[in-house]
Parts: sequence; structure tokens; C-alpha cells
Amino acid sequence: MARVLIIGAGGVGGVVAHKCAMAGAPFTELMLASRTVAKCDAIASQIEDMHGVRIRTASLDADVPANTLALIRSFEPELVINVALPYQDLAIMDACLEAGVHYLDTANYEPRDQAKFEYSWQWAYRERFEKAGLTAILGCGFDPGQTNIYCAWAVKRHFQEVHTVDIMDCNAGDHGKAFATNFNPEINIREITQRGRFWENGEWKETDPLSVHAPFDFAESGVKEMYLMYHEELESLVENLPGLRRIRFWMTFGQEYLTHLRVLGNVGMTSIEPILYEGREIVPLQFLKAVLPKPESLGENYTGKTNIGCWISGPTHAGEIKSYYIYNVCDHAACWREVRSQAISYTTGVPAMLGAKLLLDGLWKRPGVWNVEQLDPEPFMQQIADYGLPWVETWPSGPHPVP
Ligand code: NDP
Repeated sequence: MARVLIIGAGGVGGVVAHKCAMAGAPFTELMLASRTVAKCDAIASQIEDMHGVRIRTASLDADVPANTLALIRSFEPELVINVALPYQDLAIMDACLEAGVHYLDTANYEPRDQAKFEYSWQWAYRERFEKAGLTAILGCGFDPGQTNIYCAWAVKRHFQEVHTVDIMDCNAGDHGKAFATNFNPEINIREITQRGRFWENGEWKETDPLSVHAPFDFAESGVKEMYLMYHEELESLVENLPGLRRIRFWMTFGQEYLTHLRVLGNVGMTSIEPILYEGREIVPLQFLKAVLPKPESLGENYTGKTNIGCWISGPTHAGEIKSYYIYNVCDHAACWREVRSQAISYTTGVPAMLGAKLLLDGLWKRPGVWNVEQLDPEPFMQQIADYGLPWVETWPSGPHPVP
């Protein structure tokens, strides 16, 4: 039985709050805190109407560790679930250490003034969390998150070694807007406009942004063009998967989305370099974020499905070289009916809730800082379907989708 503080009341924060409230034990008391308290209040009243559970809310600027520390000291949670933005990760980890509280997030730290993300900053906290007897779980959304756990599960259940991994993320949904991002626009566009990167035979290889692509036939969504990108889980999986020879990440984009992105990039709207506008400094990408639809506003009329999974190959425990494909299909409209969300926020928030539950139940409580593939995949895989993200596993006999 535990109190939990959820920080961030955007698309993902809403799902986490709904799902924790719906789960009941071990979540006995919940507080949702964010920069704009009105967003927390709106989610809280939705939760009360839909599930009959009352949660508390608070205003918080989590950029300042002292603010988070004061809130933790007054609410006394056992765990903080950080679903604000990657910029706040270190400040919230500092507050958790100071207050003696466990930590979980869904995205790795990113400095505001550099479009760069890597785990080094958060891995540097390993010893401090371990000495304090506290657990920090990193990247417990879908990708990173459930995809890492699929890899850990494949290793535990089926493979002696994993030789290749292709993480394939397809959103075949339609939200009816000309251009919108499914999670925080600033973080999303920073990620997509970076150079592509994958790991092969012991080294990182780079590609021009979105220059490598291939079609793939996704179950329940059909053939979609997927683009090679760098994504944060590649960094930790390279460290943690035995025998790895190649790992890549692919995401689907429609032509309309890519055209908008190219035009916005060409006119300078995706830049993070400050410019002077009417005597005031503004960051073009932050201005663009302000005019784009909010991720949490997309859910109501969203149709179609997501399909995210891992295509893995290597020698099985029986010694045969095989391909294995494990994925989840999630329906945007069903997410809206259940928790007033679209499927991208849903597929991120549900693993975060289950990771928090496993930590509080003691199954994932382990002092230190961990990426999810370092934790036992068994309890997660046994429970995740019950919370809304069932998985399908197949043993394809045909050729690799992108050899
Ligand atoms: P949103 O932009 O919808 O929500 C972010 C929330 O954080 C907003 O409520 C925002 O407040 C709040 N926030 C921002 N800055 C602060 C601050 N200084 N103090 C307190 N609160 C703050 O983003 P999403 O919900 O889409 O994404 C949330 C996180 O989930 C991101 O880190 C994202 O990268 C991650 N993510 C992970 C995925 C995965 O599969 N692993 C997939 C999708 C997202 P305000 O409303 O006032 O701006």
C-alpha cells in the first residue's frame, strides 16, 4: 500500500493517473502535480467521474529540485513517477535522493539547449541510488520500455544470444489534423530531425535524417513505410543484450507528416537556436509547440491502430538460428473510451503504471539505477495484457524484413 506522486499532466501523465487509480492496490493515494495545475484538476475530475476515485493535485515547477523536495516532504510518497519532460529528469532524481523516495521515468535526460539525449547523465546516479537503498527505473514506457522488456523476455525464454534486433514502431492512426505530434511536439521533433544511428559489429553507424527506409506489413495496419532513426533504447540494449551484432530502430511516417516536417525545417521553425522576435528572445521550436495541437487533445476522434514490436534473431536454446517477432496492437478509439487518451500516450502510460506497481510490490525493487531490460521480465509479461497491452509472438519463417 503506497502513496505515489505523478509529475506531468500531459498525454502520458493523464494515462498514468487513470491507470494507477483503476488498478487500486498498491496505489492507495495518488497525487498528480504539474506546472499547470488546471490540467491536473481536469484529469482528477475525469478520474472521479469515470472510475470513482479521488486523487490529489498540486502545482509544481519540477525544474527546481527544492520545489519537488518540498512537495515530496508534504505528501510523503514512496515513489515518484516522472512523466514531465526529459529536461526535468535530473532535478527530479536529485529531489528523490534527498527525500529517500524511489523514482521511475519514461524518457532519458536531455539538456534544453542541445538536441541530444543519452543515458550517461542518469547512469551517473547509480552509486548514489544504490547507497541510499533506492530504486530508479529508467525508460519504462513503450519504446523505451515494453520493447526493452520484449528483448529481455526473448533472451530469458527463447534465445541463448540475440544477434539482431529491429524495433519497429508503427502508428497507422488518423487524428484528422493536418500536422500534429503524438507526444510532446518539442521532444518529438528534436528526436525525428536528428541523424539516424544504428549499431553494427561493435560500432555506431550514422545515416542522414530519415534517409533509410523500407516497407513492412504490420498486423492490423497493413504495409507502411518505416524510417531508420536513432532512439534511446538502442544505447542501453547494446550494453545489456548478450551476443548482439546489430540493433536498429524504425518508425513509420505518412508522406503528409514528412512534407510538413520538411517545410517547417526549411523555414527554420524546428530550430532550437533562440532568435529575437519583437525585442524578445524566442526559440522557434518552442513557438511551434505552442501553436500545434496538444498530444492530449488528439484522442477524441482518433481512429486506427498502433503496432509496436521487436523482430529478433539468434540461436535459440535448442541451438537453431531463428527469427522471432513480438508486438502489441493498440486501438486509438479503445484508449479514448477507457481513459480519454490516444494510443501513443496509452502505450507509454500503461507500462509506466505496471513498472511502478512491480516496484512497489517488491518484484522490481532493487537499489540502483536500472534500464528495464535489466529487471526480471517475467512479472511484467504475465500482467501487462490484463492492464491493456496484450502481446503477440510469432516465429516468422520468411526472410528478414530489412536484411
Ligand atoms: P506533454 O507535453 O503532453 O506533457 C508534459 C507535461 O509535463 C505537461 O503537463 C507539462 O506542463 C509538464 N511539465 C513540463 N515542464 C514541467 C516542469 N518544469 N515542472 C512540472 N511539470 C512540467 O508530453 P507527453 O505526456 O506526451 O510526454 C511525457 C513524457 O513521456 C515525455 O518525457 C516524453 O518524452 C515521454 N514519452 C515516452 C514514450 C515512451 O514510449 N517511452 C512515448 C511518448 C512520450 P504544461 O502543461 O504546463 O506544459
